[in-house]
Amino acid sequence: MTKPRVRFAPSPTGALHIGGVRTALYNYLFAKQQGGAFILRIEDTDQNRYVPGAEKYIIETLRWVGLIPDEGVDFDGAYGPYRQSDRKEIYQKYARELVTRGRAYYAFDTPEALEVRRAAEENFTYNHLTRGGLTNSLTLPAAEVQHRLDAGEPCVIRLLVEPGQAIRINDLIRGEVVFQSSELDDKVLLKADGMPTYHLANIVDDHLMAITHVIRGEEWLPSTAHHVLLYEGFGWQDTMPQFAHLPLILKPVGNGKLSKRDGAKFGIPVFPLEWKGATPEDSFSGFRDTGFLPEAVINFLALLGWHPGGEQEIFSLNELIAAFSIEHISKGGARFDYEKARWFNQKYIQAADNGVLATHIRPLAEAKGYRVSDAYLAQVAGLMKERVTFLPDFVEVGYYLFESVRVYDAEALHKKWNTGLSPVFEDLTDLVATFEPFNGVALEEAVKNFISAKGLKPGDVLPLLRLALAGTMKGPAIFDMAEALGQDETAERLRRFVAYAGKNAESAVNG
Ligand code: GLU
Repeated sequence: MTKPRVRFAPSPTGALHIGGVRTALYNYLFAKQQGGAFILRIEDTDQNRYVPGAEKYIIETLRWVGLIPDEGVDFDGAYGPYRQSDRKEIYQKYARELVTRGRAYYAFDTPEALEVRRAAEENFTYNHLTRGGLTNSLTLPAAEVQHRLDAGEPCVIRLLVEPGQAIRINDLIRGEVVFQSSELDDKVLLKADGMPTYHLANIVDDHLMAITHVIRGEEWLPSTAHHVLLYEGFGWQDTMPQFAHLPLILKPVGNGKLSKRDGAKFGIPVFPLEWKGATPEDSFSGFRDTGFLPEAVINFLALLGWHPGGEQEIFSLNELIAAFSIEHISKGGARFDYEKARWFNQKYIQAADNGVLATHIRPLAEAKGYRVSDAYLAQVAGLMKERVTFLPDFVEVGYYLFESVRVYDAEALHKKWNTGLSPVFEDLTDLVATFEPFNGVALEEAVKNFISAKGLKPGDVLPLLRLALAGTMKGPAIFDMAEALGQDETAERLRRFVAYAGKNAESAVNG
């Protein structure tokens, strides 16, 4: 059996939507499972919609999530060039060939003339019903057509759609889908400026790049009817790829397609990376800058419309490759469940190696001006990873591992502190400042002995010790924190705390 060749073919018209990343992922999984090729093709023939920076964004996204193309723009490959704007001449040649084969024709109608028709006739379409009355190579004498072409008169090439045909597609997800050719328009294939439309370029490239399977979003299903006619027109039906149209991604609330505006509306990322557009409305946050691990994003996206059955939810990329199958992709839309994305991120952070987490935390710590060693960052990772959802939480929620406590939880302080504790905490500070060897286990034993020697209970002292170190009742185990902070800092925090509590917890004494 030949190995599959699949392509991810985004148009660089802005930030790549997270749904596009899912399309890339499913293509990648399908190819890798069968030892095939995953190709990145940039479909940039629509100059009006071209956005600078969008191609770079696509490539950076694929690299970030680890879906590395075997061939494509920015990658090698024997079927290039892989950017459609670099293939212009190829499409012109094939468009003319289709005319020669009697499956396409030249149309000389000016945009203005068509505008007049559209204004006069509601639902005007260029098709088998109207083309006989329009200015094209089907209605003009051959000599005149040649004359107009020789004179360089602007014209387009349109697909000749014959009515009365049933066009059948065996979609790998949807089963048989039938379109009636009588309902289709004569799509423009080559524009007056010599650029191909999406339909022509897409089919010519899928053919020349020997694509075996087209896996793409559901919104392209209607276009497939024209695509089948193109394959037939060129005589390529025997090597026509198989189609699989992926379900829509729905809004978090479950109804309607997830749109780029939903990010701002629901306060969640719907793009992989941050995108700085020309205006604030066109600028978006992404999963990466929100603090997702790429592995979590991949796992989340994989299950957005696909599940192999069974209970397993955590899948590494390799496990996804092994488990993936088109049969288990659902037909119905998949709700963009952001809570689930957060859950995946928590799970992946918890399971990550502390050293790896340290490399993710380093830039975040540096941005805040924290100067710490890799070893310390790995320690912080270990202390905090059960308590965070996003990577920035390490330096935000866990800020007290990098700088002094900013605020003490007032409620906890008032509940636990009384002036009688001042001398106890002074003695405790002395103990901490001189205790050897300064490690968590030994210190814990010593402090517990100290507490009972004072005739107190652990519950009288330990919550306050926690407040002294972190300011909050939540957070890592007290003595692990103390060990990470080190002897001097731990003692210093106790001193500061005693001074603060003495001044600020008066109400506890009076009340
Ligand atoms: N350029 C199209 C897009 O932006 C590709 C559709 C397809 O995969 O055929 O989604």
